[in-house]
Amino acid sequence: MSGAARVRIAHGVAIHGGVGTLTPERMTPELKAAYEADLAASLQAGRSALDQGGDAVDAVVAAVCVLEDSPHFNAGRGSNYDERGVITMDASIMRGADGDAGAVAGVTGVRNPVVLARRVMERSEHLMLIGEGAEAFARTQGLEPVDPGWFGTERRRAELLRALERRGGRPNVLGDAEPTSDPTSKAGTVGAVALDRSGTLAAATSTGGMAGKTWGRVGDTPIIGAGTWASPRCAVSCTGWGEYFIRLALAHAVEARMALTGASLSEAVRAVIWDELARQVPRSGGLVALDADGHVELCFNTPGMYRGWVGEDGVPHVDIWGEGTS
Ligand code: ASP
Repeated sequence: MSGAARVRIAHGVAIHGGVGTLTPERMTPELKAAYEADLAASLQAGRSALDQGGDAVDAVVAAVCVLEDSPHFNAGRGSNYDERGVITMDASIMRGADGDAGAVAGVTGVRNPVVLARRVMERSEHLMLIGEGAEAFARTQGLEPVDPGWFGTERRRAELLRALERRGGRPNVLGDAEPTSDPTSKAGTVGAVALDRSGTLAAATSTGGMAGKTWGRVGDTPIIGAGTWASPRCAVSCTGWGEYFIRLALAHAVEARMALTGASLSEAVRAVIWDELARQVPRSGGLVALDADGHVELCFNTPGMYRGWVGEDGVPHVDIWGEGTS
């Protein structure tokens, strides 16, 4: 994964829609166009938040909301079911300038979990709220409960049935876990990082978690330092097998390598994805990252990652397979 052109922007947004991509042979042209359209719309939403004077937090929320509202990705609408056949979602957000952060886990009736995570960050004295408490807080914030029917999709239900059949085997978080007759069931977690005109970075990540996950399971997505990280130095949003991202404190590992070893963003993300993560579990994840100088990294050790970036010229760049930028 080297040799791809480095990307550098003055301000902008980078996103992912998960590492669980379909193989090119199983992707229809229509479906590919639909994924690419959603990724481009997400980038445009993030970009227009910045153009309208919004900051990096506004940009990542705008970008993630588009992906949460799409049925194609495992976040918000289109989320995976747990073993009971219930959709429970996790999300987090972090602002680099002051290190403030918010997170929610195990929420069922909130249309945009990333918005709730932001409210936790900005309007509560806590960092993380879970389950019914998080939903009660959502109501105090005027976030109307959404009928569970909004989130559910047939293909996710089919994926649950397959996951339950495989019970005892590897949980289905990754796209290459095994062949399936339903090619649309493999899309993943979503996330965004942004750099605004004032130089502030932010990161946000949102997921329905693993298909057929045990009731109560929480992955890396809402864990600050595991699935999401932002500082004055870098912003990181991860996707992949969450248990390993938590063990490695993977999002923060990027920061630590830069701060402690003087590594560039590119060197740091390669080290954590290809040395630390891939050695523990090959082909298990990826991330998008930005540094304060505007370097963009889209790095994964899987066959693909739904991804994209947009800079100051407003032109969205989206991709699914091939090499990332590291
Ligand atoms: N990281 C997510 C989790 O473990 C899943 C994913 O990225 O697809 O819940």
